Amino acid sequence: MSGFETDNLEKVRKAVNVCTMCGFCKSVCPSFKAIGWDTALSRGRIILSYGLLNGELQADESVVRNMYTCTTCADCVRRCPSKVDIVDIIELCRADLVKNGNILPKHKAMCDNIKEFGNPFAETAPRAEVLGRTPHKAKIGYFVGCTATYRSKKTAEATLSILDKLGDDFTTIDETCCGSVMQRVGWPQEDVTKMMQKNVDAIKALGIETLVLACAGCYRMFKLEYPKYVDVPFEVLHITEYLAKKDLKLKPMDGVKATYHDPCHLGRHCGVYEPPREVIKKIPGLQFKEMEYNRKTSHCCGGGGGVRSAYPEESMTIASTRLDEAAFADLIITTCPFCVNNLSSAVGDRKIQVRDLVEIIDELL
Ligand code: SF4
Ligand code: SF4
Repeated sequence: MSGFETDNLEKVRKAVNVCTMCGFCKSVCPSFKAIGWDTALSRGRIILSYGLLNGELQADESVVRNMYTCTTCADCVRRCPSKVDIVDIIELCRADLVKNGNILPKHKAMCDNIKEFGNPFAETAPRAEVLGRTPHKAKIGYFVGCTATYRSKKTAEATLSILDKLGDDFTTIDETCCGSVMQRVGWPQEDVTKMMQKNVDAIKALGIETLVLACAGCYRMFKLEYPKYVDVPFEVLHITEYLAKKDLKLKPMDGVKATYHDPCHLGRHCGVYEPPREVIKKIPGLQFKEMEYNRKTSHCCGGGGGVRSAYPEESMTIASTRLDEAAFADLIITTCPFCVNNLSSAVGDRKIQVRDLVEIIDELL
């Protein structure tokens, strides 16, 4: 026996045994395409989980690497005929790896920062100061998220500007990290739940009835994960769901050839496919064409699941594949700061721009 504690994996012992090794997941897994080994795709990761569960494997560097190069894109979940929730198994396996002291240094640093500073970047500047907004009582709240507040500031500025232009009474929130990074890398759920409760309390204190988010990762947390652990007594909308219902008078983008990249955490995880497209359709003159892999079959940008921070090379390979699929376009529009960052980092000599939809809408409104 390896002495590896598997309290989390134990919850999915049955699911781990349901995989028939059919290999359907092999045709879609972005990490397998980047790495080339069976251990870097879902069925391989299930075998590793099985080995850990039964004490037949040590949690060595290779096991850790294979469990953490998964972007949690969920394309394999869509493809699996046995309906195995592979992302769930991988995240529970990660929770056991962390519990047994196998956390990656980059992930540990981010989680320690979140615990100490409320964000993964160890930023000490108060969010109200960075955003130039003081939270106040309002029916609509904008949850900005750590990345848009401290790194991808254009996303935050554009979203704030759009909400200002629409004239709705909205407020920012005295927020802390949504907990997505911690949960994706397997940090103990007790700490994530504390952050969830802190955010919900801050939102409730402002009397918010509708929470709007422009980050796919934060959105998935509030929409799917928060309700599993805390009471969420308000409506949760992605900014594109909010804007799709609005009568937007936009300037034209004549002749620009554009396509749309579905963020995995907004699309496959939460089923939000049409609202971004409805907003894009409002832009006069734009020549829009879908990529071959779109909506449910969209390919991953490579930036999720903690892969960008721990394995940047694999993350860039996955992003390059996605960019090649959009070679016909001048512009890739997406709706998540992580996707914008990751795809932009891999552009290199390609003549293509990657932009967040909110930045474009703000310019045209
Ligand atoms: S598609 Fe599902 S059942 Fe088939 S090998 Fe992959 S995880 Fe196993
Ligand atoms: S979630 Fe995505 S990256 Fe992870 S195993 Fe499935 S297809 Fe591969």
